[in-house]
Amino acid sequence: MVQSPNLLPTAELQARDAAHHMHPFTHGAELGKKGARIITSADGCWLTDSDGNRILDAMAGLWCVNIGYGRQELVDAAARQMQELPFYNTFFQTTHVPVIELAERLAQLAPGDLNHVFFASSGSEANDTNLRMVRTYWEMKGQPSKKAIISRWNAYHGSSVGSGSLGGMKGMHAQGGMPIPDIHHIDQPNWWSEGGDMTPEEFGIERAQQLEAKIKELGADNVAAFIAEPVQGAGGVIVPPDSYWPEIQRICDKYDILLIADEVICGFGRTGNWFGSQTMNIKPHIMTIAKGLSSGYLPIGGSIVCDEVAEVIGSGEFNHGYTYSGHPVACAVALENLRLLEEEQIIDTVRTETAPYLKEKFESLTDHPMVGEAKIVGMMGSIALTPDKATRAAFASEAGTVGYICRERCFSNNLIMRHVGDRMIISPPLVISKGEIDTLIERALLSLDEAMAEVEKQGLMVAATRN
Ligand SMILES: *Cc1c(COP(=O)(O)O)cnc(C)c1O
Repeated sequence: MVQSPNLLPTAELQARDAAHHMHPFTHGAELGKKGARIITSADGCWLTDSDGNRILDAMAGLWCVNIGYGRQELVDAAARQMQELPFYNTFFQTTHVPVIELAERLAQLAPGDLNHVFFASSGSEANDTNLRMVRTYWEMKGQPSKKAIISRWNAYHGSSVGSGSLGGMKGMHAQGGMPIPDIHHIDQPNWWSEGGDMTPEEFGIERAQQLEAKIKELGADNVAAFIAEPVQGAGGVIVPPDSYWPEIQRICDKYDILLIADEVICGFGRTGNWFGSQTMNIKPHIMTIAKGLSSGYLPIGGSIVCDEVAEVIGSGEFNHGYTYSGHPVACAVALENLRLLEEEQIIDTVRTETAPYLKEKFESLTDHPMVGEAKIVGMMGSIALTPDKATRAAFASEAGTVGYICRERCFSNNLIMRHVGDRMIISPPLVISKGEIDTLIERALLSLDEAMAEVEKQGLMVAATRN
C-alpha cells in the first residue's frame, strides 16, 4: 500500500477536521474531544488509517462497497467517461449512452415488470421521488385522495425531509419539523425485543396485520403506498419472521396499495440474490436503489418502477428531477460495477459459498454469554446483546450503552462492526473470503469478551424490568 508522502500527523488532521468539518450523525462536541478516525486508503475488505492500522471493514463502508475497495476497472470506467462526456443532463428530452445502458441493464436485472428507472444521486433523493411519484400516480388515475403513505417505526429511508419522514427514526423526527403530513407508521417486526410471549411466526402475522388495521383506520381510498426495507438495515438488521412478508403482500394486494421495497441496502447481492425482494419473495411496484448500485464508488441512486406506474406517470409531465439524475460518470461506474458483479459471479458465490459459511460461524456467536439471538441473511447480520438470554432481556442501562462499549472494543481490535442500540451489526463487502470471515469472527469474539469484562466492571450486566 502506497502511503501519501504528504500525509500529515493524525493529531493535526483531527484538529483541522474538528475546526471546520460538520459530520453527519455525530455528536460534534464529543468528536472534537476525541478526534475522528482518519481513513487514508483501502483495498478489498481492508481499510488503512492515518496511523497505519489495517482494519477489517465488516460494514462495507456504509453498507455499500459490495464489490470491495480498490477495483481499477471502476476507476478506468470513470476516467473514460469523464474524458468523453463528464456531464450532461437528462431533462427536457435529452439523454446519453451511459444512462440508456444502465436503465436497460437494471430493467433486465429487476424482477417482474419493473422495467423503468428514474435516477437520483442517493437513496434519500430516490425515496423523495417515490413519495411524489406514488401520489402523482393516484392523482393522474383520478384518485387524488390516495395520499397517505404507511411506513414503519425504526425504518430508515434517508435523511432529507421527505425520506426522513418516511423513515421511522424518532431521534430524527425530533429535529427540524418531521414527519411531514400524511405519513403514518406501524410497528416493526422485531421479535427479539418486542415479541413478548408470542412465537416468531405469530408475532410476524400480528405485526403485518397492523398494516391492515392502519389501512382500515385511514380508509383504503386515502392510502397511496406502503414502504419498507425487505430487511431493515440501519434499524439494526431486523430480519422479519417468515410469516411477515406473505401477509404484508396479501394486504397490499387486497386494498390496492402500492408496495415500495426500499432496496438501498438489500439490493445488488446483499441478501444473496440481486434484490432483497427476491429473497423475501415479494412483488413491489417500485424499488428504491442506491449504495451497492455503484458499490459506493460514486453517488447514484434511483427508483425502479413497474410498467403500470411508469405508464400512468408517463401519460403526463412529472415535474420532478435532479440536476444529477442519471449523471453519466456515475452511470458508467455503476454499469462497470454490475458487469463485474455478474462476470465474477460474486452474488452466486455469496449465496452458495460464503454466506452459508458466514451464517454458521455468525450464529455460533450465540454461545457467548452476552449474545442472545443472531440473525443473518446473505451478507447482513446482527446479534442482540443481552444480560439474560432466557428472558430476552434488555439492559437496564440506556439503550446503546453496552453496544457502544462493544463497538469501541471492535475498533481497538481493528474490526469495523457497528452498533444500533445494543445490537451489533455487520454488512461486509460481498467479496469477503472464508479466511477473512474467520478473522471477522475471531475479532468479534475477542471484542465481545473484552466488552463483557468492561460491562461487568461497570456494573451494567443488569436486566431491565420488563413492562
Ligand atoms: C442508506 C439508506 C437510504 C438513504 O440513502 P442515502 O444515499 O444515504 O441518501 C435509504 N434507504 C435505506 C434502506 C438505506 O439504508
